[in-house]
Amino acid sequence: MKQNVLIIGLGLIGASLAIAIKKEHPAVHLIGWDYFEETRIIAKNQQIVDEIPTTFEEGAVKADILLLAVPIKTSLTYLQELAALPLKPTALVTDAGSTKQEIMVLAEQLPFDFIGGHPMAGSHKSGVSAANGDLFENAYYIFTVPQNEQVAKRVTELQVLFQGARAKYVMLTAEEHDQITGMLSHLPHIIASGLVNQADVFNQLHPRAKQLAAGGFRDITRIASADPQMWTDILLSNREALLALMDTWQTQMTEISDWLKTEDQTKIFQFFENAKDTRDNLP
Ligand code: NAD
Repeated sequence: MKQNVLIIGLGLIGASLAIAIKKEHPAVHLIGWDYFEETRIIAKNQQIVDEIPTTFEEGAVKADILLLAVPIKTSLTYLQELAALPLKPTALVTDAGSTKQEIMVLAEQLPFDFIGGHPMAGSHKSGVSAANGDLFENAYYIFTVPQNEQVAKRVTELQVLFQGARAKYVMLTAEEHDQITGMLSHLPHIIASGLVNQADVFNQLHPRAKQLAAGGFRDITRIASADPQMWTDILLSNREALLALMDTWQTQMTEISDWLKTEDQTKIFQFFENAKDTRDNLP
């Protein structure tokens, strides 16, 4: 496949997708851009990309496909910058951001073809040094297509490009995507980080607790090590869905407090039994 592909953001996701593309399509010319010079140098030296242009604009105007793999708010800024550049008329732009509604609303107004993407795999590690071409194997790769049917059909171009990632492609509307990831990813992230912060205050009163934090606590809080800037962007970008989910969560916590106050053994047992049944039957 002879194509110029520009990847903007050579961190965990951008560099991992670059490796996956190269694996399947060695003839693709990969152009990489990152805000940090050190990252650009590593990506070039490790042959994760073929070319680092002098400026981002220089790479953009010669690209057939452009992938934004930067924090969500940064992607919104880049989309506006791209709209002011003389991109190839057939250029196709996509992103890897963890929320989809906000970016789809903006992209629908811009003068190039855009299809939203979200490779649903990751790590609490970030940056180019964490890149891994197998990161997305068997993970879901969600595409959010625009209303324009001609542009929507171009999703196959991206599916071919990312074949080397060995992910399972799924199509979702932006709204459905944000509701589902809110429940399965963003709310758990808030809870995990809240637990770590609560334990931190607690540890100051009980210094032995830190030493004893093991198994369960470590398992449930692993994701709290992820990049704080990325998660700030994700929360602010999925506010509505998260506010509704947090209301439901708070109602649940209040119920458990009430059962504890009234020593309602049956309700407490049912709470854990229901969770165990559901967890044991996850596909
Ligand atoms: P990362 O921190 O590993 O990489 C982001 C890269 O973007 C860094 O190399 C950084 O230098 C670069 N960058 C930041 N601002 C920039 C700018 N203005 N111009 C050019 N480069 C800039 O983060 P990541 O995990 O690769 O996340 C990238 C995107 O992928 C985010 O939108 C995130 O929501 C999404 N995503 C992350 C995960 C995950 O688990 N990490 C999973 C799926 C999707």
